[in-house]
Amino acid sequence: MKRVYNFSAGPSVLPEKVLEKAASELVNFGEAGMSVMEMSHRSADYQVIIDEAEANCRKLMGIPDNYKVLFLQGGASLQFAMIPMNLMVKNKKADFIDTGAWSSKAIKEAKLFGEVNVLASSKDENYSYIPDFEKLDFSKDADYLHIVSNNTIYGTEYSELPKVDVPIVADMSSNIMSKEINVSDYGLIFAGAQKNIGPAGVTLVIVREDLVGNAPDNVTTMLNYKTHADKGSMFNTPPTYGIYMAGLVFKHLLELGGLKEVEKINAKKAEILYDYLDSSEMFSATVKKEFRSKMNVPFVTGDAELDKKFVAEAKEAGLVNLKGHRSVGGMRASIYNAMPVEGVQTLVDFMADFERKNK
Ligand SMILES: *Cc1c(COP(=O)(O)O)cnc(C)c1O
Repeated sequence: MKRVYNFSAGPSVLPEKVLEKAASELVNFGEAGMSVMEMSHRSADYQVIIDEAEANCRKLMGIPDNYKVLFLQGGASLQFAMIPMNLMVKNKKADFIDTGAWSSKAIKEAKLFGEVNVLASSKDENYSYIPDFEKLDFSKDADYLHIVSNNTIYGTEYSELPKVDVPIVADMSSNIMSKEINVSDYGLIFAGAQKNIGPAGVTLVIVREDLVGNAPDNVTTMLNYKTHADKGSMFNTPPTYGIYMAGLVFKHLLELGGLKEVEKINAKKAEILYDYLDSSEMFSATVKKEFRSKMNVPFVTGDAELDKKFVAEAKEAGLVNLKGHRSVGGMRASIYNAMPVEGVQTLVDFMADFERKNK
């Protein structure tokens, strides 16, 4: 059976080279005589794996020394609670920009710990744009500002950051490592691994040192960043295999030429797909140009039956998981780092062919 082009929003496609490397080491890792899955996390072999994963993550993203890199569990969703537990401590106040379901879920959790100010929302147009943050009245005494840098469901992405004096917390679950960023513009970055990093089960948290260690005494040990920062993500058994896989992905991205190159490839993929959508008489993108995500591309025909037919026939052609999220409808192509240019080109060729046949 041939591998398909998998446009799933998450868990998502992984680089084939990484899967092959993992397969070659699956049963017996190096000289260890066992699989990475079978190793003690306290073993010397495993320490090398996690140290290398962290070092390559730092190199790839240019993470300054005053930031901790943590490999946690509980998904991005647990961060919706851990962040306010650890950061909403001084004035017990946080600003949010609501750009969709993942903002709303984070807002709901933060409200359990303090005052939440939702400064703007794009809910009025089904989250198809990023609110104009130039005009927003950011709180001077907020403990942080929470944004979702890429909105997986609606296909919108920040192209710039709001200028604020408080730490910016960014949910980068669906666009982390897709382009160069300046980590020091952020107080905390977090991402579930299953979109651009590796298998589900690992959550990457990159947090500025001064934001660690301020949690009140009633925050449980496992939910305190300090616990994991002090122990190099090894307070308890970490998701060992997932971290190993993430490490292979980081190495692979470095070998490609780092995020500068990755960004170019992603720009090219997005251009191929959006250019076709903008020229098509059948398909159209649901997001205006200036807000478009380079990772998740929702599109519609305007006819629910035709959408259904398209998704079914695409699947037959080996282009899978193109059904849109129920809250947007139509289709969505997630074109994360590991989706090759040929995958996007094949999709566009298929769409053009479908359009000719169904005029
Ligand atoms: C997928 C996703 C989440 C949820 O991640 P889990 O790991 O399933 O908790 C949160 N935020 C964004 C932006 C996502 O894309």
